[in-house]
Amino acid sequence: MGIFSGKTGLVLGVANDRSIAWAMSEALVAEGAELGFSHLPGERSERRVRQLAEPHNAKLIMPLDVQKDEEIDAFFDKAKEIYGKIDFVIHSIAYAPTKELQNPYYMISREGWHMAMDISAYSLLATTRAALPLMPDGGSIVTLTYFGGEKVMPGYNVMGVCKAALEHTVRYLAWDLGEKNVRVNALSAGPMRTLSSAGISDFDEMREHQAQKSCLKRNVDPKELGSTGIYLLSDMSNGVTGETIHVDCGYNIVG
Ligand code: NDP
Repeated sequence: MGIFSGKTGLVLGVANDRSIAWAMSEALVAEGAELGFSHLPGERSERRVRQLAEPHNAKLIMPLDVQKDEEIDAFFDKAKEIYGKIDFVIHSIAYAPTKELQNPYYMISREGWHMAMDISAYSLLATTRAALPLMPDGGSIVTLTYFGGEKVMPGYNVMGVCKAALEHTVRYLAWDLGEKNVRVNALSAGPMRTLSSAGISDFDEMREHQAQKSCLKRNVDPKELGSTGIYLLSDMSNGVTGETIHVDCGYNIVG
C-alpha cells in the first residue's frame, strides 16, 4: 500500500527513461498509482513508451499529438472508457524547432513561434479541458516549467516566452477550476539532460552554472522531481493551487 493506492493518473510526455515525466511516473507507481500514458504518434515513440509502461501494467498507452484536437479528444475519451474517473494529470510537453531555438529570439518566424506556443503552452489548456469530465470530484494537474520563463536565460529564447505563458496559464486555470476542486500547479525543474534539453544551445554550460550558483551547489536529481510530483499530485498539497514550485537546489533565489 502506498499513498497513491487506488488512484489513477494520466502521464503526457514520456519520451524515454530520462524524461522528467518518467522520473515522476516511477515515484508514483512506487506509491501504488495506476498510470496511463500518451506518446507521440509513430512507431519509435510508441516502442519507447511501451517498453517502460507495459511492465507497470498500463491499461492505456495511446498516441497523442497535442496539436491535434481530435487526438486529444480520442485520448481522453479512451481514458474515460477504461478508468471512468482519474485523480491527476502530468503535462510534461514542450517543443520548438531546433533552428528557431538556435537563432536569437528576435529572428524567430511567425510559424515557429506559433508552433512552440501551441505545443508548449496552449496544450496545457487543451488537455486540462479534456480531462475535466474525468475529474467530477476534483483532481490535480501538474505541468513542467523552467526558470527561463521568469528571467532571461541566454539560449532559452522562445521556450522562455512559452514557459512564461505556461506559468500564467497555470494561474488562470487554477482560478477557473478552483470551484471544481481541480488544482493546477507548475513544477519548475533545474536543468536535466533529456531529449528536449539537447535542443537548447549551451545547455551543459547552463547546467554547470546552475550547479555552481545554486544554494545546494549541485544539480537536481530526477528522484527529487518525483518526490515533489508526489506532493503536488497528492492530498498533501490540497491547499496549493496556481503555484510554481521550484525544484532547482535553490538556484532561483540567488541574485
Ligand atoms: P523529453 O524530451 O523527455 O519530454 C518532452 C516530451 O514532449 C516528449 O515526450 C515529446 O515526445 C513530447 N512532445 C513534443 N511535442 C509533442 C506534441 N506535439 N504532442 C505530444 N507530445 C509532444 O524532455 P523533458 O523531460 O526534459 O521535458 C519535459 C518537460 O519538462 C518539458 O515541458 C520541458 O520544457 C520541461 N523542463 C525540462 C527541463 C530540462 O532541463 N530537461 C528543465 C525544466 C523543465 P517525443 O519525444 O516522442 O517527441
